[in-house]
Amino acid sequence: MPDVQPLLEELSNAYGPSGFEGPVRAIVRRELTPLADAIETDGLGSLIARLGPADGHPRVMLTAHMDELGLMVRRITDEGYVKFQPLGGWLDQAIVNQRWMVLTHAGPVLGVTGIKTVHVMTPKAREKLFERDDLFLDVGAHDKRDAEERLGIRPGDAIVPDSRFAPLAGGELYLGKAWDDRVGVAVMIEVMRELRAGAPGPATTFAVATVQEEIGLRGAETSAYAVEPDLGINLESGVAGDYPGITPDEAQERLGHGPGLFLHDSSMLPNLLLRDFVIDVAGDLDIPLQFNVLTGYGQDGAAMQRSRRGAPTVNIVVPTRYLHSHTGVIARSDVEQAIRLVAEIVRRMDEGTLAALRDFS
Ligand SMILES: [Zn+2]
Repeated sequence: MPDVQPLLEELSNAYGPSGFEGPVRAIVRRELTPLADAIETDGLGSLIARLGPADGHPRVMLTAHMDELGLMVRRITDEGYVKFQPLGGWLDQAIVNQRWMVLTHAGPVLGVTGIKTVHVMTPKAREKLFERDDLFLDVGAHDKRDAEERLGIRPGDAIVPDSRFAPLAGGELYLGKAWDDRVGVAVMIEVMRELRAGAPGPATTFAVATVQEEIGLRGAETSAYAVEPDLGINLESGVAGDYPGITPDEAQERLGHGPGLFLHDSSMLPNLLLRDFVIDVAGDLDIPLQFNVLTGYGQDGAAMQRSRRGAPTVNIVVPTRYLHSHTGVIARSDVEQAIRLVAEIVRRMDEGTLAALRDFS
């Protein structure tokens, strides 16, 4: 298996909030072009790479979403501050006092979400949470005209977290933004590389990098319609529960203990036979597998599962700390194990196996 770090680093650093996935799509296209038999995009912008004959079966669909959480310029105040619309599920407190890039037609513009200084606050005010309607971005403009004309900022411009990749703990762990879901995108690309390099198996595999997941699984809906999958495997960032203040009842995965399999989230239940198939394959390969039963969370597998007449689907994840913030943490070993696991699941998927998974008699 090639070193996963360079691709993870490039994907994490790339700018791609929901609806503005272009730079990520360019990386995915570059990586998958030599590995796939055909590549297309659907009308919403998801990239669909096919490995195997167009009319082949089973049709296995892998999904990973390209978009990350961001903001969008709503308006510029007379004083030159930027007011914004959040894109995706932000905790308001995670927006405050961070660095951001406004992606303008003239290039990226750095800014900071300012925080009112404690020096002027009454003891009571210090206990208050920051509310999203009061938040703003300071781009250093003299006034509105300066922000528009010199810096090139316009309403509708995307704003993305400014947070660079770095290895942590000597390279066992990776710190960076947008692991949700660039880690899934990296796993999907490397699975295609493994399939192309070895025996790809009898299935036709579609690697689909979706758009606009964070605002309602929108890209998965249209791309699943296009692909017509017999079976779906969504690749996501999981929810690690291994840091202070989070309990095992909230999330059960731990970093460095293998890929995770979701048993429940608020958007989807896995197909039970496919769930057991994944557990069996992990056992055969001696890959540790973790489970997660979450109360919240939504993911693209839900759209695949409900496409057309329905498809057996699972969500396989790389455990991730601090989702939906400027900086998350993942473990290299979990990424590598997820790639091995998913490649083997795809390799073993033939017509008979699929028929058994889809049998509800
Ligand atoms: Zn996600």
